[in-house]
Amino acid sequence: MQTQILGLVTPLMALFFAATFVVLWRAGRLKRHVLGFGIAFALSAVGFLITHFFPPDAAYLFHTTQLFYTLGSVVMLASVCERAGQRLHLGSFAAVYVISALVLALTVSFSNDVGPRLIVVNMGYGVMFAMGVTTLLSARGRSVIDVAIIAVMAFQAADFLIRPVLTLMFERSIPAEVYRESIYYSLIGLVLGVKGVTNAMVLIVATIIEWMTALRESSERDPMTGLHNRASFEDTMQKLLPSAHTEGCALSLVVADLDHFKQVNDTWGHQAGDAVIVGFGELIAKMIRGCDTAGRIGGEEFCIAIWNCDSEAAHQLAERIRQAFAGLEHSELDGNIRLTASFGVATARDGETYTQLFARADEALYRAKSRGRNRVENTEDQRQEEARPDMNPRLAELERALSVKTGS
Ligand code: GH3
Ligand code: MG
Ligand code: MG
Repeated sequence: MQTQILGLVTPLMALFFAATFVVLWRAGRLKRHVLGFGIAFALSAVGFLITHFFPPDAAYLFHTTQLFYTLGSVVMLASVCERAGQRLHLGSFAAVYVISALVLALTVSFSNDVGPRLIVVNMGYGVMFAMGVTTLLSARGRSVIDVAIIAVMAFQAADFLIRPVLTLMFERSIPAEVYRESIYYSLIGLVLGVKGVTNAMVLIVATIIEWMTALRESSERDPMTGLHNRASFEDTMQKLLPSAHTEGCALSLVVADLDHFKQVNDTWGHQAGDAVIVGFGELIAKMIRGCDTAGRIGGEEFCIAIWNCDSEAAHQLAERIRQAFAGLEHSELDGNIRLTASFGVATARDGETYTQLFARADEALYRAKSRGRNRVENTEDQRQEEARPDMNPRLAELERALSVKTGS
């Protein structure tokens, strides 16, 4: 009776961890690999329960537990690999399972000793964990928690491959009917418990870190376009500018504003306007490089920080975005309507602050607006124009206001 109750500790613990991962997954709306951790623990719990409560000499005992432990292991490995951005080659896992299930069938039919059965099934799990670790090692970029996950998975591989052989060297033969009285069986309860807790703790910490990262990222993102919000874009710029200055790297800023957007809202409604903003955000995200940063800094105003890019190249990028947007279809607006945007470009000068850089790019944007919209202006042009009284920024602003009124 006491042994029966003790035997429940490991499966109950596994079920508790399974529930923990499902709760974390739901509450944090986390990615599906977290649900995978929960499913893996639940499958292992079923395996533990079968091992403990099915008749030890039943021919099907090892086959049934092997199925659940294999499923649990594969779901666990697929989930940790998915978390690391890697995919398991499921065919290889199926092959390992089929081979070890066939060899297990042979050992069950030829001998009443559970030793060979234990070696066969554990070898199968060991090979699977070793394959999973190899896949994890091919992932690029590793944080401390990634290393911890690889370590627990490698420990699992080593445990499955070495422990059964070592234990069975001491306990030469274990007849099936006394399996639960064996040293192997007492040891396995302890080992599974320790491995389960270590595994779960590392994965729970990894999941909490992911949750916190997701929370931080969502607070930095504009919910509509998924680009940085204004505060986050400004923070990024405060970091990028000093790096650009120290590294002697050109950093350009593009400011964009959709043209006559009030009219879009007035004519087709706010929701259609929102869809246009989303479309423009998607276009920017698609057209910039991974090292660039884009943000929605106002209603229909966007900023792009272009790393290692001089004024000319930044101007060309803005021009490409302008052309792409001018040609974009808007299913949410009537007929064949095309919209446009205006762009201002400035490249950071030595020691310049973000406010100063932004002011120059914004001035170039005003200029693009006042010169008829649907165009890109950069500060180089602006410098030439500053000599002209008609391009005084105040006048440009006035001209802009007038053009808004007349809808030009
Ligand atoms: P201009 O060509 O001079 O830029 O003219 P405009 O009409 O686009 O003028 P402005 O940029 O000043 O106006 C922005 C308008 O965008 C005002 C506001 O009604 C609208 N807007 C701001 N935020 C949102 C938003 O989140 N969704 C929608 N649909 N409209 C927005
Ligand atoms: Mg506008
Ligand atoms: Mg605007």
